[in-house]
Amino acid sequence: MTKIGVLGLQGAVREHIRSLEANGVEGIVIKRVEQLQDIDGLILPGGESTTMRRLIDKYEFLKPLQQYAKSGKPMYGTCAGLIMLAKHIEGSDFGHLQVMDVTVERNAFGRQVASFEAELNIKGIADKYEAVFIRAPYIVEASDAVEVLATYDGKIVAAQQGTLLASAFHPELTDDHRFTGHFVKMVEESKKTLAS
Ligand code: GLN
Repeated sequence: MTKIGVLGLQGAVREHIRSLEANGVEGIVIKRVEQLQDIDGLILPGGESTTMRRLIDKYEFLKPLQQYAKSGKPMYGTCAGLIMLAKHIEGSDFGHLQVMDVTVERNAFGRQVASFEAELNIKGIADKYEAVFIRAPYIVEASDAVEVLATYDGKIVAAQQGTLLASAFHPELTDDHRFTGHFVKMVEESKKTLAS
């Protein structure tokens, strides 16, 4: 059975496990670096990116996560997870994993509208998709290697670069499991490629 990990240091972990299970795969909470060997793909959940980074450093996950992102096994960052993947963060001198060719801006929709829902059309994945945003970042800039999957108000809120997937919204907080389903498909395809 396909096994997908959710980095379990901080943030919306259980909700992702539930969404993976709804897509018929096994979800595993990842708390130790060694567990990365046992999974076919990994989700970096939403939460708070500076806290998440502190815990990543504390548990020595930074290099292993960077290696994982380059291994050909898919990695998906939601919200704070997207911030972890980005090469650049607006207003900051350094990124975290720095593996995806995008620049993100944190809390980019402003404080007044910290949390909201919006209907998105996600290219090739879901129409009329009700997306939940919580103090969300968005992608300010993306290289040509990055495919834009969805925009909201002219801003990039979902994108893919090869085996890396990112969304500014939280697909795990609703009962619409189509976006997570897309990640599950990416993982299943990569399993076939890596096995051949
Ligand atoms: N604003 C948070 C950050 O910058 C991310 C919010 C979220 O993951 N829901 O880390």
